[in-house]
Amino acid sequence: MKLLTTAAVSLAVLASSVSYAAEPTLSSPATSEPTQAGTSQVVIRAGSKPSSKGAAETFTGNVQINPLFPAGAPASFSGGAVTFEPGARSAWHTHPAGQLLIVTNGTGWTQQWGGAVVELHPGDVVWCPPGVKHWHGATPTSAMTHVALTGTVNGKNVAWLEKVTDEQYRK
Ligand code: MN
Repeated sequence: MKLLTTAAVSLAVLASSVSYAAEPTLSSPATSEPTQAGTSQVVIRAGSKPSSKGAAETFTGNVQINPLFPAGAPASFSGGAVTFEPGARSAWHTHPAGQLLIVTNGTGWTQQWGGAVVELHPGDVVWCPPGVKHWHGATPTSAMTHVALTGTVNGKNVAWLEKVTDEQYRK
């Protein structure tokens, strides 16, 4: 299996140290950012960070990634909403600190290496432990959207492996 070192793009972008332009909130400090410890709530407005397309090196088919919030202290995980069009899926990969997937729309599939393909529906939650090789995506006939909450270790939240072949996907 080949580790794709260009993986900085796609999901890993969610772990970048970019600070979002958060709007000030209920009361005060106009300078509050979600990545800094503070005492005020912070609202990150929908669409304040542009969405991106899943990179061809790490995804098959059309995938749209909408960053929700970056990783930062004290919670070292990021959030993103990912939409897979029918037939689209991630490559095989692992997460150094694990990943929670919350399915919000459509019908999807996920699979752990050596395991069966599992169908996912809105409201389903998947916990993928650190280091477990897996993929997730749409079914051949339905799009699927999930929110991904992905832990970060030393600035990395994903290690990309080989792509999911059509033969693996159709099983
Ligand atoms: Mn994953």
